[in-house]
Amino acid sequence: MPKPTPPQGGGGATADSPAIPASAIPVEQLRGVGPGVAARLAQLQIHNLAELLFHLPLRYQDRTRLHPIGSLRPGSEVAIEGEVRLSEIKFGRRRMLLVNLADGSGSLLLRFFHFSASQKAQLAPGTRLRCFGEVRRGPHSLEMVHPEFRPIDNKHASPVDAHLTPVYPATEGLQQLSLRRLLEQAITLLEQGQIGLEEYLPTTLLPPGMMPLREAVLLLHRPPPDIALDALAEGEHPAQQRLAFEELLAHQLSLRQLRLAQQHHPAPALAGDGRLQQALLTALPFQLTNAQQQVHAQISADLRQPHPMQRLVQGDVGSGKTVVAALAALQALESGFQAAIMAPTELLAEQHFRNFSQWLVPLRIPLVWLSGRLGAKARREALAAIGSGTARLAVGTHALFQDEVEFARLGLVIVDEQHRFGVHQRLALREKGVVDGLHPHQLIMTATPIPRTLAMTAYADLDLSVIDELPPGRTPVETVAISEARRDEVISRVASACEQGRQAYWVCTLIEESEALQCQAAEVTLTQLQQLLPQLRIGLVHGRMKGADKEAVMAAFKAGELQLLVATTVIEVGVDVPNASLMIIENAERLGLAQLHQLRGRVGRGSAKSSCVLMYQAPLGKLAAKRIAVLRETTDGFVIAQQDLEIRGPGELLGTRQTGILQLRIADLQRHQALLPRVNQIAQQLLQDHPQLAEPLISRWLGSKTRYGSV
Ligand code: ADP
Ligand code: MG
Repeated sequence: MPKPTPPQGGGGATADSPAIPASAIPVEQLRGVGPGVAARLAQLQIHNLAELLFHLPLRYQDRTRLHPIGSLRPGSEVAIEGEVRLSEIKFGRRRMLLVNLADGSGSLLLRFFHFSASQKAQLAPGTRLRCFGEVRRGPHSLEMVHPEFRPIDNKHASPVDAHLTPVYPATEGLQQLSLRRLLEQAITLLEQGQIGLEEYLPTTLLPPGMMPLREAVLLLHRPPPDIALDALAEGEHPAQQRLAFEELLAHQLSLRQLRLAQQHHPAPALAGDGRLQQALLTALPFQLTNAQQQVHAQISADLRQPHPMQRLVQGDVGSGKTVVAALAALQALESGFQAAIMAPTELLAEQHFRNFSQWLVPLRIPLVWLSGRLGAKARREALAAIGSGTARLAVGTHALFQDEVEFARLGLVIVDEQHRFGVHQRLALREKGVVDGLHPHQLIMTATPIPRTLAMTAYADLDLSVIDELPPGRTPVETVAISEARRDEVISRVASACEQGRQAYWVCTLIEESEALQCQAAEVTLTQLQQLLPQLRIGLVHGRMKGADKEAVMAAFKAGELQLLVATTVIEVGVDVPNASLMIIENAERLGLAQLHQLRGRVGRGSAKSSCVLMYQAPLGKLAAKRIAVLRETTDGFVIAQQDLEIRGPGELLGTRQTGILQLRIADLQRHQALLPRVNQIAQQLLQDHPQLAEPLISRWLGSKTRYGSV
């Protein structure tokens, strides 16, 4: 294999022959990289030496020190050295080779299930061995199963590793050892100054005291033995901070550029004349809260612009987002455009349809309903009305944005309760609504608030509004936790609440089971409750019921004809029945904080004092106990979100796994939270003063494929 071409006739870099940029050298120039390995590297998005050097270790192994065998603790991964005392094959249920290794401080067992004759020979008594592996507690003593091992010379001390051993993210067909060998070559070239990594960020833009890029990269690939291991494991080492900063910045820049690009698209300027909005406001039985008014004003101003609004409205459950959405929709309608409202579940979409019908039919505005479960004829009619423009407002599930749906003049898309909605989905949705080159405005509403700096990072392509006030007259929900063993008490509590004219929800949860099982469990609970509480009118709603049946049950509950509603978590979002003031949640220990908060948000919507009973199966695990404690202490969605962030990490909170929002290599939104305000600020400054730097930084960290702007 050819060696990397040395710069201008060989030797290291000198003042007049600067290092070649690592990005200019294809991986094929390394020893050991043929077409096969190159193809596998390409799967890791590694084509050149810069990309290779930014393939950072996941963790490290420490082979720089030999540990006395007598000092070992189970669970640690260590290097040891000792003499083989005994080596025997044991025949039992499984044939295995057992080796006893001792070093004067103690002894331990090496256990091998697979071994060749020559390996057995290498492990003969009297041999000195160096081993590396994880220490476990065995039946009789500490042991290592299949450690790495090598015989060493008895007479001469053989040196230990000079650096910690990096463990890289590997891929099929490209093993750890091969990756290490390739990186070794690249690192040596970088160390010798034959290749260089561009430091794109001027020092003026880096937070003070940050490590230079080259130093940080070298250090992370080859940490010295005395490095602060704890800091390293926690991602807090200055070298990690330096790279995390740059990575977060790159994401931020990409999202901001996307936003700038969006702003260049033309959108219909929805001036409206306020007529319909005014009519709705007059008809409402309440006044908007200050927070609702403010957010409404922000949206209204955005809609008047000739470029697409991209706004995320966060507001706790029950803060009154729906009416704000309705006002936005009316502004589009007043301006002669259509609006579409998309909800994540059928039940919520149905409820919106009912609400909007109540509000809009008196204003003589035709609206349609579209979901995947609509019959063929109804569907055809709905599609025709949307396509001809006779339907001014369309309400539905994601079925609204399937290929056959074509809007005549779509001005505004509203996505409700769907923050787990990646950049790509947002873009796709808007593309879908483009008519005559005009991009529709977009409003996204969520009741799962996320802390502000995190929101600004993950949703840097959006403007943010917060409805930070609940309508007046709400009393906070009282939350109690009761063990399943006291189910009888809970049941009599339900009975007495209903006798007092209150209504209640009984939520059946089965986590990680199929929807079918959930529905079945709810049916069983219904039967049981009907037997125990024959005096009550009890209904059932779950995800497998027909739309019309669900609708009928919900309507009966809303009208007060049903006193108790047994439900699966389909009622998690959006369901709004103000007279319901008691909620029982079964198996509460198995649900996450955000979900419990959402569920609990179904009560406490009226003026009656509401309560939520979290029933759990004892004993409670530590995390479950913590979640339940948080819920009992607060009903503030933002506080809960912050706790959720601490308990579960941002991946879960943002739904990263589902949506691919911010897939980070080294940065961690929680660990590096402290960097976020600075990142946001620098991103802005960089785009202003050094816009040419954005592109190379983005491609360094996001590659060319995952780039947001290119959708
Ligand atoms: P969410 O933000 O959870 O979507 P909703 O829009 O469903 O909340 O509103 C919850 C309830 O509060 C509804 O019954 C709604 O009619 C009512 N509501 C909304 N705004 C106000 C207000 N300003 N004053 C009183 N009630 C309001
Ligand atoms: Mg809502």
